[in-house]
Amino acid sequence: MSVTWDAGLMAGRAAGGPGLLRHFVGGEFVDAGRRFVKRSPVTGEPVFEVVEADRSTVDDAVAAARAALRGPWGRMGERERAEVLRRVADELERRFDDLVTAEVADTGKSISQARTLDVPRGAANFRAFAEIVATAPTESFTTVTPGGGRALNYAVRKPVGVVAVIVPWNLPLLLLTWKVAPALACGNAVVVKPSEETPASATLLAEVMAAAGVPDGVFNLVHGFGPDSAGEFLTRHPGVDAITFTGESATGGAIMRAAADGVKAVSFELGGKNAGLVFADADLDAAVAGSVRSSFTNGGQVCLCTERLYVQRPVFDEFVERLAKAADALAYGWPADEATVNMPLISHQHRDKVLGHYDLARAEGAQVRAGGDTPTFGDARDGGAYVRPTVLTGLGPDARTNREEIFGPVVHVAPFDTEEEAYDLANGTDYGLAATVWTRDVGRAHRAGARLDAGIVWVNTWFLRDLRTPFGGVKASGIGREGGVHSLGFYSELTNVCVELS
Ligand code: NAD
Repeated sequence: MSVTWDAGLMAGRAAGGPGLLRHFVGGEFVDAGRRFVKRSPVTGEPVFEVVEADRSTVDDAVAAARAALRGPWGRMGERERAEVLRRVADELERRFDDLVTAEVADTGKSISQARTLDVPRGAANFRAFAEIVATAPTESFTTVTPGGGRALNYAVRKPVGVVAVIVPWNLPLLLLTWKVAPALACGNAVVVKPSEETPASATLLAEVMAAAGVPDGVFNLVHGFGPDSAGEFLTRHPGVDAITFTGESATGGAIMRAAADGVKAVSFELGGKNAGLVFADADLDAAVAGSVRSSFTNGGQVCLCTERLYVQRPVFDEFVERLAKAADALAYGWPADEATVNMPLISHQHRDKVLGHYDLARAEGAQVRAGGDTPTFGDARDGGAYVRPTVLTGLGPDARTNREEIFGPVVHVAPFDTEEEAYDLANGTDYGLAATVWTRDVGRAHRAGARLDAGIVWVNTWFLRDLRTPFGGVKASGIGREGGVHSLGFYSELTNVCVELS
């Protein structure tokens, strides 16, 4: 086994160029295919050269996964697999600093966020699913037979087979491990395709897998793009049994079409246009601070971020003023500075899209209460993909600004009068991923949970996750639920065995 991510990276760096990131197939790093350049969102400089998988590399990866299922991995019991997952978590913790470096290099996020959220969650995902799979029960029923005897029915949990894991760039390691951990816990073999924008932590994860003793072929990695590249080759591959995908709703549609031919199972975690409701009885300090987090964390590039805020009229003016002031005050800095909050968008292409939305909002008649443009630094960050955190007001629910996912540090704030109106406004979208409610009224908190069309409703908090709970979206925000035993539902097949006893 040759595990040389560091060597490849460092050799490139030492030569004054970007490091090289390769595929990982059947336990070996593979340098096959064209190459593309990954640029730093912070400065626009090249940081990595990445190998792009062609069809034959994807074929090899799927074949390696299939072969692994026929090997010792396929015969391992749940507790043994749980032990492997714990070793992966240990190894992720041992490589903590390297993973932080990789995540920051790819995304430009602050080192403090990578240290407190992204990388710890990677290890937590493996520990959580080790526990869940080792303790998950299956059903059994005793049936009365026509002759008056008894039959025993019980369910046996089996892997689905080869699972394709396709993930986006916003929380790369967190989202990748959120799917790889339950897939491996259930005994599958995976072929993962990280985003072309975030190849580094996934490559390092391959090294972690090898060091943790995950058998060759159980975890395979191919780099590349979506259409007519690694993503599409994988989703159309006849050797893939199931596809788990996180990304844009439109991409989910394309993958669903590709998966139709083989009738492959899909699990989709897609886009959002999440609403936050601030009632006049709320703790306003908490609502402002919470809304700053929910709108601007990770540069607004979290699927769960709030892009629409509805604030009850008596507190609307004060809320907007305080939110805009707080948005303007968010600290810029280099990713390595602990105090840095603002981060660049992932790429110049994405920045153009977000700035296009800022222009569209103005054209639609929005008032820009904070931000709305790009910052200038007077240093290398001027080559980066930064935009300023932006607060908008003045638009109706039909404005494109209030309907389309922007995926940047931007929120539109509008007033409402009654609780009923608040639910109508919040639900008036094609999406349904998350909603946040700020209120001191306990009855209203529970009503909101029942009335809001979203996969998750937070009350007086945001982005607080328990990995045992169901996670997913309604409407265009997804298909299915992952998390806890719900992940086992997707990543395993249940065979019912019926034994006549007498
Ligand atoms: P994207 O859909 O453009 O890309 C996601 C992944 O799919 C990438 O790896 C990409 O290369 C691949 N891909 C693109 N086209 C493909 C195709 N035709 N076939 C196969 N693979 C293809 O999304 P993005 O821009 O990377 O990420 C942002 C989006 O992800 C936002 O819409 C955000 O809301 C969503 N997201 C959702 C969740 C969730 O849990 N619901 C979490 C994070 C991000």
